[in-house]
Amino acid sequence: MDETYSNRQKSILKKLEQSGEISIQLLADSLAVSTMTIHRDLNRLESAGLVVKKHGSVALSANRAAPDSNTCAMCGRAVNDRTAFTLNLTNGEQLRACCAHCGLMLQQKIEDVWQSFTTDFLHGHVVSTPQAVFLIENELTICCAPSVLTFGNRKDAERFQKGFGGKIAGMEETIEYLHGMMHAKKMA
Ligand SMILES: [Zn+2]
Ligand SMILES: [Zn+2]
Repeated sequence: MDETYSNRQKSILKKLEQSGEISIQLLADSLAVSTMTIHRDLNRLESAGLVVKKHGSVALSANRAAPDSNTCAMCGRAVNDRTAFTLNLTNGEQLRACCAHCGLMLQQKIEDVWQSFTTDFLHGHVVSTPQAVFLIENELTICCAPSVLTFGNRKDAERFQKGFGGKIAGMEETIEYLHGMMHAKKMA
């Protein structure tokens, strides 16, 4: 992280990495400063291309990590091959995400995704996202929370579920789950 950012600006980025999108009021409350101060911080972060201000809220910029294919295009974390998620866009561009959590959030956010691939958590091989089996509501957080673990087949997912709990879901259900969780967090 660039040293020229204040501690408060760094905390804002950290909160955004955890929550996806936050209202400006909530940021001001949680950091005990005025919304004016938050706006000033966000202007600084926005001019650096790190965040995008929306109506009354702010989110991390989806493009901020694009030039470096080894950082997650959603949250900016380093992409680990073990949990990598790849999105191929219709314009030929490729985006990478750190895990299925970020990958599926990104996939839902970006309209022109024509293919995406996720990584089997047990064997490390690449699986086409619509064919993958996901384990959600699981205690084991390997990358971003709420954690989404990917399996190439239902049998492996069930075996894992026996040991670690959670719920088995397909792609659509997992996207809905993430969406609901993020929404609940925003409301809290
Ligand atoms: Zn990520
Ligand atoms: Zn992640």
